[in-house]
Amino acid sequence: MFLIKLYLKNSKLEFFNFFKKLFMGILINFVKQWIAGENLEEAIERSKKLNEKGIGVILNFLGEELKDKKSVEETVEEYFRMIELLKKENINGYLSVKLTQLGLNIDEKYCFENLKKIAWKCFKNSKMLWIDMESSDYTQKTIDIYLKIFRLYKNVGLCIQSYLKRSENDVKRLLKKRGIIRLVKGAYKESEKVVFKKKEEINKNFLKIMKILFKRSKNYFAIATHDEKLIKEAIKLSKKYKKNFEFEMLFGVRERLKPLILKQGFKLKVYVPYGKDWIPYVLRRIREKPSYLIFAFKSIFI
Ligand SMILES: Cc1cc2nc3c(=O)[nH]c(=O)nc-3n(C[C@H](O)[C@H](O)[C@H](O)COP(=O)(O)OP(=O)(O)OC[C@H]3O[C@@H](n4cnc5c(N)ncnc54)[C@H](O)[C@@H]3O)c2cc1C
Repeated sequence: MFLIKLYLKNSKLEFFNFFKKLFMGILINFVKQWIAGENLEEAIERSKKLNEKGIGVILNFLGEELKDKKSVEETVEEYFRMIELLKKENINGYLSVKLTQLGLNIDEKYCFENLKKIAWKCFKNSKMLWIDMESSDYTQKTIDIYLKIFRLYKNVGLCIQSYLKRSENDVKRLLKKRGIIRLVKGAYKESEKVVFKKKEEINKNFLKIMKILFKRSKNYFAIATHDEKLIKEAIKLSKKYKKNFEFEMLFGVRERLKPLILKQGFKLKVYVPYGKDWIPYVLRRIREKPSYLIFAFKSIFI
């Protein structure tokens, strides 16, 4: 009797483990449409393939809201390794960091020192460094830190979100300092006190800010969207104002649109995130395209 019970218990466990493995396998496959892998070497291989197609890359090591110095220091080391490998493998690519992965939640000065180390190494290796924009809790601090680092290193750019009501003024202020801007719509869950909630309002503000960039920017800038209407508007503006700009898109999103942009002779970079800490990033991608989740569930259970 005891042996039968033990056998049933073990087979239940095996059954459970089998389904756990199957579920995790499907989940990882689902996630891998948006991330280049779990380590830098995988991201570099993906970057080489994108470069072969004429697409530049912007590598990001996944991780945000870090609360302990050990994780922050490991992240800084990872970015150092990234710069070295980009150089060694002759990759057409830059970096993008989040300030909360460099210690913004621990101490602002500490975060700035970490950013400075990365910006210096990028500068030495002729690499551009982008700073991602996170939730509105960090907007002011991120802009302040950007302006401070930009005084030291001119190879640093900042992401600005068109869903934020304040962004038009921020962009005007940044342009006065010749700041480098990447314009996106914005990906965080925010209150209507600070953001436009309706798609039309976000798009209208994107167009407005994009026009400001084309008219006033004396520096390089990036239009980062997969929205075909806005891309067409950018192309029109680029014919009127001869500016140094590029289009940017996310890894795994709107793959058929990318070659069309290249064909018309525009520069295109793809944001390539990698790492084990992919949950917040993937959740933001799912929020943009919830139908993917239904598709993933169907592929698991049906
Ligand atoms: C290079 C780059 C850097 C970014 N950096 C930041 C940042 O620092 N901070 C920040 O808040 N946001 C950032 N984002 C994300 C951005 O804010 C938007 O959330 C994201 O780009 C989707 O908006 P969209 O402009 O493509 O317009 P949408 O209106 O969302 O989408 C336009 C079209 O693209 C398709 N699409 C959009 N997203 C997906 C998806 N995940 N999967 C499949 N199809 C999709 C839509 O179906 C639609 O047809 C970045 C985006 C890019 C491209």
